[in-house]
Amino acid sequence: MQLTDDRDASGRRVVVDAPDADFDIPVDTLILAISQHAVLDFLEDEPIALNDRGYIKVDPQTCETSIPGIYAGGDVANDGPATIVKAAAAGKAIASSILNEKGTVTLSEKVNVPLAPPLVPSMAEMLRRRSHRERRIRAPQTNVAERQNFSEVMLTYTPEQARTEAARCLDCHTYCSICVGVCPNLALFTYETDRRDQHYQVAVLADLCNECGNCTTFCPTSGAPYRDKPRLYVNRDDFEAQQDNAFMIFHDSDGWAIEARFDGATRHLELNDPQDDPDMQQTAMYTILKGVQQSMPFLPMGEA
Ligand code: SF4
Ligand code: SF4
Repeated sequence: MQLTDDRDASGRRVVVDAPDADFDIPVDTLILAISQHAVLDFLEDEPIALNDRGYIKVDPQTCETSIPGIYAGGDVANDGPATIVKAAAAGKAIASSILNEKGTVTLSEKVNVPLAPPLVPSMAEMLRRRSHRERRIRAPQTNVAERQNFSEVMLTYTPEQARTEAARCLDCHTYCSICVGVCPNLALFTYETDRRDQHYQVAVLADLCNECGNCTTFCPTSGAPYRDKPRLYVNRDDFEAQQDNAFMIFHDSDGWAIEARFDGATRHLELNDPQDDPDMQQTAMYTILKGVQQSMPFLPMGEA
């Protein structure tokens, strides 16, 4: 469809069929990808290396996978889902790698688009940014009297204005915690982890949660935080009554420990246990235990 300059009775521009708007694009394979989880079925038996979180391991500079000549970027690689800007950066890095690899550019022209390591702003800094409104800087425009020509009307920001505009970003992909703010029972807590991606995580102190569902109503990504997030228990009987997603933290003079229930099975981990086990459950337990130790030492805990 396309717009014409003619207007209908209501004054709206008339829409007509666009000629030659239907066309075929010959492709070998078309992969439609959407959503927040990596679906890697199409790899079938390819021995591509994944990391302990199930995403494709890629070289941080070239985005090449463990299979030479195969590249991956965006939500499916390394740290998993992030921003569209990072996905675009990965795409650029992949294009550069392929051009360099295939010799399409000469050595002197070699393209180098390194992927910058993600910075994690401090929680205090992000809360400070959210505490006041920073109004948008209006993009400069040509004076109306000077527009009788083909010059641009919308002009560009100065470098300083561009930096100020970019600094208005609230980094909500890094730190959301809306659920923490709306819980009437103060049952949700934000804790910090060692991960650079998704550095800030949320846990539920299950003993305080009455399952009112308020956090689910407000979650911008349609999550159910009180069910999905790790549920920490203080009361041993309540913990024992759970079959899945239940955790108890212990702290005494001997150190920190965590007990977890997954699918009816109980696991135990000391903070000082060796961390060379790539097991997903152990990784999750370690992350939660370390997070509670660093960010929530005030929580009531059992004795190991
Ligand atoms: S369901 Fe639980 S965690 Fe969520 S808002 Fe209600 S009390 Fe808080
Ligand atoms: S569970 Fe929802 S509301 Fe809570 S931090 Fe995650 S995205 Fe935000």
